[in-house]
Amino acid sequence: MTATYDTSLGLYIGGEWLHADGRDAHEVLNPATGRGQARLPLATTADLDRALEAAERGFKAWRVTPPEARGQVLQKTAALLRERAERIATIATLEQGKPRAEAIGEIGLAASLLDFHAGEALRIYGRVLPRPAGTRSLVLQQPIGPVAAFCAWNFPALNVVRKLGPAIAAGCSIILKPSEETAGTAVEVMRCFQDAGLPGDVAQLVFGVPDTISRHLLASPITRKLSFTGSVPVGKHLAKLAAETMMKATMELGGHGPVLVFDDCDLEKTLDTLVAHKFRNAGQVCIAPTRFYVQEGIYDRFAAGFAERTGRLKVGSGLEAGTQMGPMANPRRPAAIAELVEEARAAGAKVLTGGARGEGEGFFFTPTVLADVPLEARAMNEEPFGPLALLRPFGSDDEAIGHANRLPFGLAAYCFTENGRRQNRLGDEIEAGMVAINGVRLSWPDSPFGGMKDSGYGSEDGPEGVAAHMVTKTVHMS
Ligand code: NAD
Repeated sequence: MTATYDTSLGLYIGGEWLHADGRDAHEVLNPATGRGQARLPLATTADLDRALEAAERGFKAWRVTPPEARGQVLQKTAALLRERAERIATIATLEQGKPRAEAIGEIGLAASLLDFHAGEALRIYGRVLPRPAGTRSLVLQQPIGPVAAFCAWNFPALNVVRKLGPAIAAGCSIILKPSEETAGTAVEVMRCFQDAGLPGDVAQLVFGVPDTISRHLLASPITRKLSFTGSVPVGKHLAKLAAETMMKATMELGGHGPVLVFDDCDLEKTLDTLVAHKFRNAGQVCIAPTRFYVQEGIYDRFAAGFAERTGRLKVGSGLEAGTQMGPMANPRRPAAIAELVEEARAAGAKVLTGGARGEGEGFFFTPTVLADVPLEARAMNEEPFGPLALLRPFGSDDEAIGHANRLPFGLAAYCFTENGRRQNRLGDEIEAGMVAINGVRLSWPDSPFGGMKDSGYGSEDGPEGVAAHMVTKTVHMS
């Protein structure tokens, strides 16, 4: 399939699309070829000030807009996303690299999330506390105010919707800076909101130098909430900036997903499920399964089966039919994975399959399985964020749980066992915001998505996603 990057990039501020007009620009690359395909205008300080003023106006109007009307905009946006899914998915693949079928699935989930948030807009309740002599106190939930949001490139549609949806449902306004690397998808998603009737001042889309933008927006007294999806170091830096103004924050940060595979699992089914899930989006998924701890009795069979299935994956351009894994998203990623593989190999890990950059142009890396990886290897401690599976044997349940909880991350964990008592123990004791048992799906519109420990705080999705955009106020009426 040949396709061109068919979108016009710009900033969206106060209901107006702003284009080059002398602004600095960023070149958006196609990761399958490594070549540039579009120029993205970057916001000036004056643009950011305009965005803040618009967000202030937008909040005043949107907070008093009836929840039904807010919900209708979200539902219409969801319908437009579904209608335009084929087109938007092609843009997402051209700028992020993932197979087009994955991009279409991502847009479907984004639309379902908006439908869910449309319902949540109607379920923002308070409480009435009876007091003596017929008086009462009211506990109110009110939208917190203009939100500054920043998100990563790995789910170019879903990450953007996860920021916009709950803020808009809650009655907040928002200034969103998605990744410059996947600007086209964000622009298309914003056009859906615009065409669905979202008033211009409610949501602004900006791009630029990330550190300059976040410092400017977070220092403004107009901004009342920070929402960030990205790496742990950037998250910690932004949390410090937010603390200066006691700003409420939601932090969706990195992970290092442990997978505990016990010898009573359904081995063939577990392998089929895990290999597909590991290499989704070339492993560039914050909840990706990464450290595979396999019980001694089945370790060799697991390793052989994992490597054999991995070696069969079809790698190529995300636009080609049948591609199971595309390129990595940017030139930083294959370089980082190559370093981690080399270091692990030198420390004693065995390369069962892959281990090298892909041939030809583009940011490809072969799907890689390393066995017997020493715990000290960097890859076992730093988030690889790539197509790298790390295997190690374990003996007892206690040992497996110890491994799972060993790192400062606490985002996603996976366990495979048929033993019900053990399933309960794993659910109780594993330190992760999301635990999957005998499956891999962790993201549903109605369930909270988020981490603990260094992986962040606050949740997106579910009722928690909207609640994170509210403040509690109590009115005592005497
Ligand atoms: P990154 O933290 O460098 O960048 C993430 C996003 O934040 C990008 O859009 C970037 O432009 C922006 N950013 C970077 N510095 C910023 C700053 N000072 N101010 C404002 N924005 C800034 O991470 P990355 O390496 O590009 O992305 C991968 C990371 O994101 C991984 O660690 C991954 O686990 C994490 N992630 C987490 C989730 C989640 O929901 N927990 C989802 C996707 C990605």
